[in-house]
Amino acid sequence: MIARFKPTWMVDTVYNISPKQLQAHGIKAVLSDLDNTLIAWNNPNGTPELREWMAELQAAGIPLIVVSNNSAKRVAKAVEHLNLPFVSRSLKPLSFGITTARRRLGLTKDEVVMVGDQLMTDMLAANTAGVRSILVKPLINSDKWDTQINRFFEKFVMKDLEKKYPEMTWQEDLND
Ligand SMILES: [Mg+2]
Repeated sequence: MIARFKPTWMVDTVYNISPKQLQAHGIKAVLSDLDNTLIAWNNPNGTPELREWMAELQAAGIPLIVVSNNSAKRVAKAVEHLNLPFVSRSLKPLSFGITTARRRLGLTKDEVVMVGDQLMTDMLAANTAGVRSILVKPLINSDKWDTQINRFFEKFVMKDLEKKYPEMTWQEDLND
């Protein structure tokens, strides 16, 4: 049961994940959660590091698609300045959004990775969809109320994961 929440990798931040590392693992596209993974509510335009990372992916020909549970209107507004394609109402922790994004790209399960800051939505959805995943640390700690409830339960899930998989640690990047 607890295995359903297990991320493939745990990396401090998305900015550390280089195209080279992704390619070394056969990954051709990145699917990503939006809130607190790519942008924080207090910095909706994204940091210079985010933009630099996006440019690196683009130069390497690695598409980045946002997979968010928010409405199309909300996501469209949020990614307006970032110019990113997205799947809204993705129904995480169900596999729907991830599978939709993956099919849109015409890629296999092995060729995409799902990035997110939550075990109970992003990582569970990735495992349900049968794709590899990267858990990142949330950009900021103040969340909307529904996320706060998730985070409360998430602490217990994380404890169980750490007990069952003691080798699981936060890495600087995929190469560690
Ligand atoms: Mg999030």
